[in-house]
Amino acid sequence: MLANPLTIFRHLEQSNCRECGEKTCLAFAAAVAIGQKPLAACPRLSATAKAALADVPSEAKSSEHGAEHVAKLKAELRHIDLTAAAERCGGEYLNGWLTLNLLGKSCATDQNGNLRTQLHLNPWMLSPFFTYIIRGAGLEPAGNWLSFRDLPGGMERYPHFRRRAEEAMRDVADRHPSLFADLARIFSAKRQQPHFGADLSVLLLPLPKLPLLLSYWQADEGIASELHLHLDESAGRNLDIDSIHEICAGMATMFGRLAARHGGFP
Ligand code: SF4
Repeated sequence: MLANPLTIFRHLEQSNCRECGEKTCLAFAAAVAIGQKPLAACPRLSATAKAALADVPSEAKSSEHGAEHVAKLKAELRHIDLTAAAERCGGEYLNGWLTLNLLGKSCATDQNGNLRTQLHLNPWMLSPFFTYIIRGAGLEPAGNWLSFRDLPGGMERYPHFRRRAEEAMRDVADRHPSLFADLARIFSAKRQQPHFGADLSVLLLPLPKLPLLLSYWQADEGIASELHLHLDESAGRNLDIDSIHEICAGMATMFGRLAARHGGFP
């Protein structure tokens, strides 16, 4: 699991005192999340916060682990028929390169896992990308939405999904009302008719046959805001639950990091 800057930020004093050398607590949280600063660099961290954050892994450590896993997937990729994989996965194969569309941007791999892409592929996206090509079932979306916890293994394997992904994204949406417009601009998110009584819903395509519906309820008269993620009912048969979790949690991390670094999206 990657550390989310907003998870860290929630436990900070939030006074922006600058004693850690960063201009804001949010910037400090982002630096900790990517392993640039130790938590101990904040002299105002309470004992409760230290205990709560003791087992939050840094992204640097997660990347090391992720790199090993990606190397194994690349070794497997050498034995895959890329022409057949392109057809199965909703991609294209041309001159030795299989190209998929990820979040509105093209990403191509050759038989050895070398990449050509318009997208900066974070570790959280690389592993699901190769797994989808190697083991993706290629089912077309059925058009029925399920929450992550209703996918096979979702609740059992990731009981903290709501806090890890949905609440983290909600925190970004609460602080940055431009989030949804920015998602459309940067990641080709499409506005949808609001689902489930939400104020707003957008559709993202992290992988060609893996639509992700993000719905947001604004805070209203003492009722807290909410954000929920839904996946097509075919998702759990198209891709393993670990990869789906990695995509959702990774996107939450990415939103939080962008918001922390830029005070909004670039
Ligand atoms: S020292 Fe701690 S409280 Fe002060 S700005 Fe840095 S993170 Fe925030």
